[in-house]
Amino acid sequence: MSNNFDLSGRVAVITGGNSGIGLGMAEGLVRAGCAVSIWGRNAEKNEKALATLKACGAGKAEARRCDVTDRASLEEAFAATLKSFGRVDGCFANAGIGGGGRRAFIDRTEEEWRRMFTTNLDGVFHVLQIAARHMVDRAGKGDAFGRLVATSSLASIMGTARNEHYAGTKAAVTALIRALAVEHARYGITANVILPGWIKSEMTSGLFANEKFVENNMPRIPVRRFGEASDFSGIAVYLMSGLSSYHTADSFIIDGAYSAY
Ligand code: NAP
Repeated sequence: MSNNFDLSGRVAVITGGNSGIGLGMAEGLVRAGCAVSIWGRNAEKNEKALATLKACGAGKAEARRCDVTDRASLEEAFAATLKSFGRVDGCFANAGIGGGGRRAFIDRTEEEWRRMFTTNLDGVFHVLQIAARHMVDRAGKGDAFGRLVATSSLASIMGTARNEHYAGTKAAVTALIRALAVEHARYGITANVILPGWIKSEMTSGLFANEKFVENNMPRIPVRRFGEASDFSGIAVYLMSGLSSYHTADSFIIDGAYSAY
């Protein structure tokens, strides 16, 4: 590597990398020379995103079918990625689903609750555990470098009160990442959370189409601008670089608006 932001030789996995924030991170990484494996359930979205990545950079890219709610599917995708790229240096747990707008906890169905928590919490736990095992194993062979990152789950809104959104799984993911950071520091593996504010994506398109939402939220954002997926390119490159090695369990907050715990 010729400089801190030249990621050639490094490999990253991004769950939910075929869309929105995940694709924004993948684009930055590929441009910096990183090899990237994007995972999603939808083959058509995977292919389209892969074409975008192939057009934009120096690094290699591949797309894999994977459902993060299914441990076997994750194990299979991880093994296949290892086979094609030989190693995984960074794992971005980003796949997630929205919480379905401003409805109270009491109005949620059992099925909605189960789907949201399985995707947004179990999905993070399983993929980071698989990646961490590989990274710890490599550290045991003298190759200590790893990045565990979560953006998932942080917007799984489960209720609303005081005119605020309440993200049901946000505190759990943040706590998990802190625990991972402490446990893995000795292996040269860092763990971080990225807390998106309101970023324009497929998931949030309904909100952005709602004039009241835009009107109410815009004044709460210090820079008066809703975020774009491309804002995540730089942060992904920074996290995968040598420069971020002194940071652990950082929370990067992108654009000012927040959803309450
Ligand atoms: P998005 O464009 O809708 O992307 C969601 C991604 O997750 C898609 O690539 C989707 O691909 C994938 N996915 C969903 N369920 C999956 C499953 N079971 N297995 C594998 N992949 C799955 O949304 P986004 O806004 O970029 O959000 C990305 C992450 O950031 C989410 O976890 C979200 O909760 C979090 N976040 C977003 C915001 C925001 O303002 N946008 C704010 C806070 C947190 P497939 O459909 O192909 O499976």
